[in-house]
Amino acid sequence: MTIKYDKNGLVPAIIQDASTKQVLMLGYMNEEAYHKTIDSKLVTFFSRSKQRLWTKGEESGNVLHLVDVKNDCDNDTLLVRVNPEGPTCHTGTDTCWSEENRSQFGFFSELERIIDQRVASKDTDNSYVARLFSKGINKVAQKVGEEAVETVIEAMDTNDELFIYESADLLFHYLMLLKAKGFSLKDIENELKSRHK
Ligand code: AMP
Ligand code: ZN
Ligand code: ZN
Ligand code: ZN
Repeated sequence: MTIKYDKNGLVPAIIQDASTKQVLMLGYMNEEAYHKTIDSKLVTFFSRSKQRLWTKGEESGNVLHLVDVKNDCDNDTLLVRVNPEGPTCHTGTDTCWSEENRSQFGFFSELERIIDQRVASKDTDNSYVARLFSKGINKVAQKVGEEAVETVIEAMDTNDELFIYESADLLFHYLMLLKAKGFSLKDIENELKSRHK
């Protein structure tokens, strides 16, 4: 690919989320950063402030997994499509232009947030989530097992209502288990996407 670097040897790289199409951030690459990005599949810039190669996420873990790179019409700007792991902006937002994280999974993202809040509240008197969490990861995992079995039983039966009911129980407790293990739906999405070659 022919890339026109500017007089400082840099080319602007627009970073876009491959699935949501949101523009996540803008960075600059020199030739070395570009090749490192292609080779490692982790987006790497040339940091103008640090004056060195900077792999996005090297400290925060919020890396950008490379999907592909496109040149623009006159080869002086790159469009880099990625699957982000965690928020891209160092302020904690998904993009460098958003004040809030958009819920990627709709109501499920809202549920994840509510679970976070309940766990943080430690309000075991009023919150089922806080109560279950206070009993430890194994108890949460055990609940997922129980709800999975109940879902299987209802799947083999003919009562659709009960099947949906137990499926909802399963998903809800699974979200709690993800949280208890320090993960979220985004991690599962990343794993599934990495298998989808
Ligand atoms: P990270 O690469 O995510 O480990 O972040 C390391 C440092 O790079 C942060 O402390 C910020 O100074 C800077 N940084 C991280 N993400 C961004 C971003 N999206 N835009 C500008 N600077 C960033
Ligand atoms: Zn151009
Ligand atoms: Zn930012
Ligand atoms: Zn149940």
